[in-house]
Amino acid sequence: MKRLLLHVCCAPCTCYVHQCLSKDKKYAITGFWYNPNIHPFLEYQKRMMTLGYYSNEMNLPLIRKTKYSLEEWMEIIKDKYKEKDKRCLGCYQLRLEETAKRAKKEKFDSFSTTLLYSKFQMHENIKELGQKLAHTYNIEFYYQDFRLGWKEGIEISKKLDLYRQQYCGCIFSEKERFDAAAEK
Ligand code: SF4
Repeated sequence: MKRLLLHVCCAPCTCYVHQCLSKDKKYAITGFWYNPNIHPFLEYQKRMMTLGYYSNEMNLPLIRKTKYSLEEWMEIIKDKYKEKDKRCLGCYQLRLEETAKRAKKEKFDSFSTTLLYSKFQMHENIKELGQKLAHTYNIEFYYQDFRLGWKEGIEISKKLDLYRQQYCGCIFSEKERFDAAAEK
């Protein structure tokens, strides 16, 4: 069976993607945690621990880059944070490139990301970026439109009683989510 390294942004987004890929039985899946975009630190830990719980319950092997690389993320978005789209593209690039590099280094056949599940991310850009990185690192990028399982994923996460966060990850997304005045 081919081996796939799946970048996991959080446990709730992992549910449907993992279930879907496991049903197919084409790939042996290993999750990869690398998300320095999650702020603040205690929120980062909470999401990482939730993923750890999911991984134990649902037998998903995990590789965790646990060092909280806030500085790496800040460096990437320092000239982009004022424009949401540019900021998010930089954020995807950082996380997906790390995944592609790790997949190559550890001799996986393919890499992918649970970001392809979210209805709130820039899906086409993530797809394009994955394909570009596949070319750069000479490794297959597995693409599927996992958004089709949006509701199913939510149901699974609720059944498992997973912590479901209310904002994407960075401090800017928290502001955008909760500061009603930010939109005015
Ligand atoms: S909104 Fe989400 S994807 Fe965009 S920069 Fe913030 S954490 Fe990254």
